[in-house]
Amino acid sequence: KAAQGTSSGFLFYRAEMDQRAKEQMRVESELRTALREGQLELHYQPKVSLRSGRIVGAEALIRWRHPERGMISPGLFIPVAEETGLIYDIGGWVLDEACRQVAAWRNAGLTVPPVAVNLSARQFDRKLPSRVLEVLDRHRVLPEQISLEITESLLVRGTDNVIGIMNELVAMGLALALDDFGTGYSSLAYLKKFPISTLKIDRAFVVGLPHEENDCAIARAIVTMAQQLRQEIVAEGVETPEQMAFLRELGCDQLQGWLFSPALPASEYAALLSEGRRLSLAA
Ligand code: C2E
Ligand code: MG
Ligand code: MG
Ligand code: MG
Repeated sequence: KAAQGTSSGFLFYRAEMDQRAKEQMRVESELRTALREGQLELHYQPKVSLRSGRIVGAEALIRWRHPERGMISPGLFIPVAEETGLIYDIGGWVLDEACRQVAAWRNAGLTVPPVAVNLSARQFDRKLPSRVLEVLDRHRVLPEQISLEITESLLVRGTDNVIGIMNELVAMGLALALDDFGTGYSSLAYLKKFPISTLKIDRAFVVGLPHEENDCAIARAIVTMAQQLRQEIVAEGVETPEQMAFLRELGCDQLQGWLFSPALPASEYAALLSEGRRLSLAA
């Protein structure tokens, strides 16, 4: 055992790195194929109002229908797309597909509440507003029908440039939501600087409601803060009636989670909308 000193440890580490690099290259090349051959799709998870129980929006979540490995969740390939830069093309596809779908629903006579699209920090460059505008125009979709979810890592970068791009998007009519709130480093003072209209409480703090005291305190603090900043507040990952009741009591505006519905293929989401299905607010 003693013979396994630092040098062999280093070799082992190197081998693992090579393995990781190879795996990343394989995923990257398969992802390019996926994009080209239409293996990517968007699913839609309803957001429901805690006042009316009605569907008030949806989040578009990407899925990869791999020919051999079946459905792959974004957690397994978005990080690779971000590291390799492929996120520009994938992000472009996501925005285009969400707009195409919204237009298709509308043309079929369906009234659709806004669809939220997730953006990676790397997509946030000077050309973003004009790219978004081009896609909206091409599909004849109003900016109010699309909103954008961004994460705290972008705010931490916090340059004037980022704020400027956000202001441009908001001036165009797109609402911005801050995703996974509470997992990063934003403070109240910090948040004020950004034109963000919605905070999404991360599922990590919803899980323990209403039993874990710390989670209750965090959820309460986030809702209070959001109310002071006049921001809408959405709770992610709500799975139980008890979690819903607690969040509703706090004054949270919307809920997104398996309690109401997981992310659904477009046709199934459209069916929920046309049925007018509502969340039962009885705990
Ligand atoms: P997110 O934006 O925070 O999305 C919420 C995640 O929570 C989704 O996972 C959703 O399926 C899951 N979820 C919703 N309700 C529940 C629940 O009640 N219980 C549990 N356990 N989970 C729930 P998903 O679809 O696997 O997406 C993971 C992450 O991948 C997203 O987190 C987002 O950061 C990223 N992502 C997804 N689609 C895109 C995309 O088009 N572009 C980019 N850049 N990122 C994306
Ligand atoms: Mg999101
Ligand atoms: Mg989220
Ligand atoms: Mg999350």
